Amino acid sequence: MLVVLIAASIAIPVFAQQAHFEHLDNSAPYGFEWPIKEVAVIGAGVSGLLSYRALSDKHHFDRIRIFERDENPGGNWHYSDEHAATVPIASGLGCDWWKADYTANIPSQIPFHKVYKAGSNESLRDEFEKNRINHRQPKPLWQSLRANTPAPQQQVPGFSWPFGVEWASHHSKVQRYLRSFASWLGINNGDQSTDVSYNTRVELVSKRLDNKGRQTGWTLVLRKYVQTYQGVYVEQYWEEASATGISLDINTFAKTSYLSVREHSNDPRAPIRREAHLSSVAGNTTMIGEIKAFHPIPKHGNMSTGEIELLNGTIIFGTGFRYAFPFLPQYHNSSVSGNEPADSEEQPIVTDGSHVRSLYLDTFYIDQPTLAFQGQNVGIQTFIYGKYAGEAIARVWSGKAHLPSAQAQWRHFWKTVEERGGLKKGFQWLDNELNSRSLNYFVAWLNAAAIENGEKLLELPPDVTDVMDVWMKARAAGVSVNPDGRNDLQEIDHVQHQWRAAIRDDW
Ligand SMILES: Cc1cc2nc3c(=O)[nH]c(=O)nc-3n(C[C@H](O)[C@H](O)[C@H](O)COP(=O)(O)OP(=O)(O)OC[C@H]3O[C@@H](n4cnc5c(N)ncnc54)[C@H](O)[C@@H]3O)c2cc1C
Repeated sequence: MLVVLIAASIAIPVFAQQAHFEHLDNSAPYGFEWPIKEVAVIGAGVSGLLSYRALSDKHHFDRIRIFERDENPGGNWHYSDEHAATVPIASGLGCDWWKADYTANIPSQIPFHKVYKAGSNESLRDEFEKNRINHRQPKPLWQSLRANTPAPQQQVPGFSWPFGVEWASHHSKVQRYLRSFASWLGINNGDQSTDVSYNTRVELVSKRLDNKGRQTGWTLVLRKYVQTYQGVYVEQYWEEASATGISLDINTFAKTSYLSVREHSNDPRAPIRREAHLSSVAGNTTMIGEIKAFHPIPKHGNMSTGEIELLNGTIIFGTGFRYAFPFLPQYHNSSVSGNEPADSEEQPIVTDGSHVRSLYLDTFYIDQPTLAFQGQNVGIQTFIYGKYAGEAIARVWSGKAHLPSAQAQWRHFWKTVEERGGLKKGFQWLDNELNSRSLNYFVAWLNAAAIENGEKLLELPPDVTDVMDVWMKARAAGVSVNPDGRNDLQEIDHVQHQWRAAIRDDW
């Protein structure tokens, strides 16, 4: 979902002399205002790990540090039985909705270090435990979840799954796989590496200015929360899953469930048509239209048409990946709507929360490309795509490839907006064609630069369109996963039999 990389150091224009790939025009390449020598990576999910691999391969940076709020690597795939705090619906109505699950908590004096001794005081222990859970933020997985991508596609290039792995891997296997990858990089949580700091949440990122007021890098405020031994906590500061998938799993346990489907959500760019997804929804699901608002149930009933009462019910938002960065408040502006640019010198990155904007190639923040975001696209195979986005970031920041001028990046951005039908939900969605165009672009751009400077050439990932096609069709045709981990069909008829043969784990 989210990864941000930030470079910090001192000012001197660099890279202006080096050759550049001619992106859209022949304008001079972008010249960074300071040499990039130190990089912070926020998040140790697959995107963060891939960035780290690409950055450390360059042997260019003086310091690369990953900050991860959780105690383990793996990001979304770190399952635990802990529950995230429930978020009151009303929180979404304010103008600071984007603070998401935390508000930066910064003491007036930094560094700050405090030890809490709960000892046998049960209520204090409960409170600290609640703080610890909020700090790491349990991931939105459920016990029976299996990957909806076949293992050969949910695989980091250059780091294979063990031979014979099930295609529909249980989440515990994906977590194990990612932790092995982190170990291979030497940054798992037992590795004692100073390149990574677990239990460390980035609270705030702000510009680092010199005494003339010019930006020379970034400052991060970090919050570390550690339980050292029983009852003692240390708080420290210093500078789709698709809705249909959820519905399928939950309907075994829930008496009634409602699946909300927007009238206009049938995006023709999606690799699998909406009808195909919906055909696999369990029979006891009630389909409803778009939800316009949530409000508490009145004490004495009286619901009017068009409203649904969920007494003692819960709501699952399967509404897409979250696009908000509580640690970057200066780049949020919820008063900007639609395709408007903001009336400010620096453009916002988040506006109404439906998309992330102002990024070149969905990656580099155009107004200050020492900020980069990896894993913002949807519809892609994060484990594979991340290699190319990570390489682009590492090569640009180490001077091995170049961004076009800021004007050319903005032109490219607005052209992309036009091509993708505007800034709205789904803006970052890449269908098969856009996905392969993007990968081709990364490879052509980075290889053109590599020929100039002797860097390794990149290859495109193997074309697995046919395999994915079979996989998706088989699942949409009603393939379920048996508890023993093997895929099977719920109902077998003549046509489905072919899919069954195609999807078998030993195929
Ligand atoms: C239920 C579910 C099922 C999915 N199934 C699949 C699937 O089958 N196949 C597939 O390819 N994808 C699937 N996905 C998509 C999944 O998000 C990607 O596979 C992948 O995990 C994205 O990796 P990432 O590193 O970009 O983000 P994440 O895995 O979300 O990692 C982000 C990391 O950043 C950390 N972080 C966030 N904020 C801060 C902060 N302020 N300070 C420090 N650290 C911070 C988080 O703790 C987290 O570790 C699924 C997603 C969900 C929710």
